[in-house]
Amino acid sequence: MSDAKKTVEQFIILPYNTSMSSCKQLTIKEIYSQGKLAVTYEVFPPKTEQDKLNLMEELKKLKKFSPQFISVTYGAGGSTQQRSTDLLNVIIESCEVSVVPHFTCIGSNKESILQFLQILKNLNIKNILALRGDPPQNNPAYNPALDSFKHANELVEFLRSNSDLNIAVAGYPDKHPEAKTLEEDIDNLKRKVDAGASAVITQLFYANDNFFKFTEKTKKAGINVPVIPGILPLTNYNQVERIISLCGAVISKEMKEQLELNKNDKETVRKIGIEHAVYQIKELIKFGIKGVHMYTLNKAEVSTKVLENIL
Ligand code: FAD
Repeated sequence: MSDAKKTVEQFIILPYNTSMSSCKQLTIKEIYSQGKLAVTYEVFPPKTEQDKLNLMEELKKLKKFSPQFISVTYGAGGSTQQRSTDLLNVIIESCEVSVVPHFTCIGSNKESILQFLQILKNLNIKNILALRGDPPQNNPAYNPALDSFKHANELVEFLRSNSDLNIAVAGYPDKHPEAKTLEEDIDNLKRKVDAGASAVITQLFYANDNFFKFTEKTKKAGINVPVIPGILPLTNYNQVERIISLCGAVISKEMKEQLELNKNDKETVRKIGIEHAVYQIKELIKFGIKGVHMYTLNKAEVSTKVLENIL
């Protein structure tokens, strides 16, 4: 069975009943034009029933800061599509908060995208984060020639023509690792916004100066939609190298030294990470951001600690 066909059949049997949901789903445009800081969270689809129960407990704790939406990641090449959709349904039903499904065009063709759009429509979902994604590393069956789109701007265009969804796209204050220069990357970001995106959500970053330069350049390029910083507090020394190599995040020499000095003291590393995130967000608020997007890694504690120091 082809992946696209399998996906369609899986979806047909999903027992979604949106008429039961009392939650009004806000659009990205509505959320960022409320005139107050929008706190939003990213979660990923849990693997097991127990993980799902744990996540629901974490989400209850995160409700403390009245999140404006919760975004749900999408596995490379559609590997978590079913679980992502299930989680969206659960969040809408039980958390009464707007959702933003992530979606990647790598591993998708037009037919499977249209099927996904139908599911979102059935769930009364108003938003989507349109991404290219990365080629799946451990899937020899992945064939890029079967993808309908090569870049996120083409996906945005297709979504505009085939749905009423509000669309967000990804931005990279430290530059996307594949782009030769930040300017080239911003030209490509502009293409995505011109194709119909209503907001940019950024990759995690630790150097606010890079975010300030990035937003200055996006404005100069004519990008006039909200640029929302993505924040992942660094709370584990072992994360550092991985984050640098995966996302190309810039970490200041001072912060690296601080973390290095305390690498065997988990509590101190955690404290440094949380304090840095608090400092980052306070400065970003002064700068005038319309929202802050917290990468939760499915745990409430760190994001809560950070936000308690700010809101
Ligand atoms: P694109 O916008 O297509 O850009 C990719 C690269 O190609 C960039 O270097 C860009 O400069 C260049 N480029 C763009 N358009 C063109 C063009 N027309 N011609 C030539 N070059 C071009 N990944 C997942 O798998 N699942 C997720 O749920 C997920 N969520 C994410 C959420 C956020 C907020 C962010 C920031 C990233 C997320 N990612 C996710 C990671 C993302 O898929 C990767 O960073 C991916 O490498 C790029 O995706 P993109 O949508 O930015 O791609």
